[in-house]
Amino acid sequence: MKTLKIAIQKSGRLNEKSVEILKNCGLSFENYKSSLIATVANFPLEILFLRDDDIPEYVQDGIADLGIVGENVITETKANVEYLQRLGFGKCTLKIAVQTGSEIQKLEDLNGKAIATSYPVILEKFLTEKGIKSDIRTISGSVEIGPGLGLSDAIFDIVSTGGTLKSNGLKPFADVMNSEAVLIGNQSIIDNPEVAELLQRIRSVLSAKS
Ligand code: ATP
Ligand code: ZN
Repeated sequence: MKTLKIAIQKSGRLNEKSVEILKNCGLSFENYKSSLIATVANFPLEILFLRDDDIPEYVQDGIADLGIVGENVITETKANVEYLQRLGFGKCTLKIAVQTGSEIQKLEDLNGKAIATSYPVILEKFLTEKGIKSDIRTISGSVEIGPGLGLSDAIFDIVSTGGTLKSNGLKPFADVMNSEAVLIGNQSIIDNPEVAELLQRIRSVLSAKS
C-alpha cells in the first residue's frame, strides 16, 4: 500500500481548518508546530506542512499527492493539478481597489494606469479578457500603501472586510475572483483507492456540517 502525502499550510489562515478537517476524517496525527512532516497513525498518509505558495507546484510535481490550498494560489501559480473538492473555508474575494475620490470610475479608465499586486497572473488574465492594458507592478506584500505613495494608481489584492483598504484611503472598485480552500491532487493518483477513501471521508465531514 502506498503512503500518500498531503501538503497543507504550515501556519496562516488555512492551517487550522485544514488540520481540523483531517482530524474530523478520523485521522490521528500529532500537530507539532515545529515539525514539517507528521505521520498519520491510522491511515497510510503523511502530512507535509508548507508555505501555501509552494503547495500547487509540490502537488503538480508529485512531491505531494494531495494538497489543501486557496484557489487563488492555484490559479496564480498556473499549476497543473486536479481539483478534487471545494472545502468551504478560506473564502475571500480578490478585488481591484482605487483611492477614494479617484478619477478611475469605470474599467476602461484603468488603461495606461499602474496597478500594484502580488497576483500578477490573475490580474493579467482579467485585464486581457476585458481588453484593458494596464501597467502591472508586482510587489510581494503591503500593496495597499502603493497609491498613497504614488507608486500605483490602483491595487489588486485579497479583500475581506475592507478595513485595510479604508485605512489606506482606498475603496473597492471591481471584483475579479472569488476563492476558497480546495483539495487538489496530482493527476496520477486520482484512481488510487486510498485517495478515494479519503475523499469519501472528507465529503461526509462536509455534508455533516451543511
Ligand atoms: P504563507 O506563509 O503560507 O505563505 P500567506 O501569508 O501567503 O501564508 P495567508 O494570509 O495565511 O497566506 O492566506 C492564505 C490563504 O487564505 C490565501 O491565499 C487565501 O486563499 C485565503 N484567505 C482567506 N481570507 C483571506 C484574507 N482575508 N486575507 C488573505 N487571505 C485570505
Ligand atoms: Zn503565501
